Amino acid sequence: MTRVTAYVGLGSNLDRPREQVLAALDELERLPQTRLVSRSRLYRSAPLGHEAQPDFVNAVARIDTGLTPSHLLAELQAIEQRHGRERLFPDAPRTLDLDLLLYGDAVIASASLTVPHPRMHQRAFVLRPLAEICPAAGVPGRGTAAQLLRACAAQDVEPMA
Ligand code: ADP
Ligand code: MG
Repeated sequence: MTRVTAYVGLGSNLDRPREQVLAALDELERLPQTRLVSRSRLYRSAPLGHEAQPDFVNAVARIDTGLTPSHLLAELQAIEQRHGRERLFPDAPRTLDLDLLLYGDAVIASASLTVPHPRMHQRAFVLRPLAEICPAAGVPGRGTAAQLLRACAAQDVEPMA
């Protein structure tokens, strides 16, 4: 069976965000054909876009998976649903957001899935935890997480105590 290294971005800013993210990491570990290889610390980040909402808790997980990209996305969305995720409006507060950041070196542009994640290269709340667990990971053609992070140094992202 083909195994692929993938990276998942986690975020929450509603209903005990820290617990939402920690529980979601456990659920990633329990996905079929999937192993949680490593995960970043938890980070606190200020909201981007719609700013009148609570700070986020973010993390990035590295997984090793035998799931296809579309199957993995469906599993991530099922976890979001179990956490009571509602899609209110773009950049709305959310109990849990799981984004598929990278899937091996795959480049995917389908109606439901874009990989690498189309905004990860400009989001410090993704790049900082990603650089922590794998500084060399990044977006082909754009740079490594560590390099890309320098361009969004103004964003407010800090490890949590
Ligand atoms: P966002 O994470 O941008 O705030 P949502 O979590 O509501 O928004 O996702 C909206 C849609 O984005 C999902 O229905 C999904 O099909 C699509 N999508 C496209 N690419 C990805 C990806 N790499 N990871 C997660 N969702 C993605
Ligand atoms: Mg999402």
